[in-house]
Amino acid sequence: MRYLIISDVHGNLAALEAVLAAAGACDAVWCLGDVVGYGPQPNECVERVRGLPGLRCVAGNHDWGALGRLDLSEFNPEARRAAEWTGAQLTASNRAWLEGLPERIVEDGFTLVHGSPRHPIWEYVLSPYVARENLAYFDTPTCLVGHSHIPVIFRQDGPPSSSPTTLVPEPGETFHYGEPRAIVNPGSVGQPRDGDPRACFVVLDMAAGTLEYHRVAYPIGETQERMREAHLPERLALRLAYGV
Ligand code: ZN
Repeated sequence: MRYLIISDVHGNLAALEAVLAAAGACDAVWCLGDVVGYGPQPNECVERVRGLPGLRCVAGNHDWGALGRLDLSEFNPEARRAAEWTGAQLTASNRAWLEGLPERIVEDGFTLVHGSPRHPIWEYVLSPYVARENLAYFDTPTCLVGHSHIPVIFRQDGPPSSSPTTLVPEPGETFHYGEPRAIVNPGSVGQPRDGDPRACFVVLDMAAGTLEYHRVAYPIGETQERMREAHLPERLALRLAYGV
C-alpha cells in the first residue's frame, strides 16, 4: 500500500495539482488540515481533495477560521482577511464537508492531527521540547502533524525523559517509521515556509515501512495572479515565491 500524505494546501490548486501529478497513483490520501485559507481557490481545492481515493482528512485552524468556528482576532490581519474572503467564497456543500472534518484520526498505526496531538487545532510542534511533551498525547508509534509548514521529524531516540532528535528531511530522503516513536511533519503543499518555495509531500510505503520526502515545483505565478485578481493581501502572494 502506498499512501500520499499532504498538509496545508491553503487554497493553492496549482500546488496541489503539481503534488498529485508528481506523487502518481496512491491507494489512499491522508490530509492534515488547512485545505483552505490564504490561497485563491478554496472551493476547487476542497473539491479536489474530497474526490481523492481513500481520503482521510482532519480539520485545521484555517478551515475552522473560514467557517467562523474560531475567533479571527487570533489570526494576524492578513490571515484574517483571507479567512473572511474564503468563508464568503465557500459553497454550502464544501462548507458542510469542512464542518464535518474531525480533529483527530487514528488509523494503521498513525495518529493524524493538524497542529499537535495535545492541541490538534492550534499548537505548533516546532521544537524538541514541545515534541517531547506531545509524545505523551498519542498512543500510536507515529503522529503526523502539519500547521507549521516546515518538513521535520522529531524522533524519540533516547528514553522518554530525553529530548527527541530533530531531523530535517531533504527532498528524496527516506525514513523508517514505527520504532522509535516520532512526530512527523510532511511540510506544506500550498505555502511552504522553510525557504524552499516548492510544494511538499510525503509518500508512505506500508510494505517498506518508510516515509519518503518529496518537493515539486509548481507555477507560483498562476497562484499569485489569482490572488491579485481576488484582492487577497499582496504579502500573501509575494511570500509564495520565497517559501516563507
Ligand atoms: Zn496552515
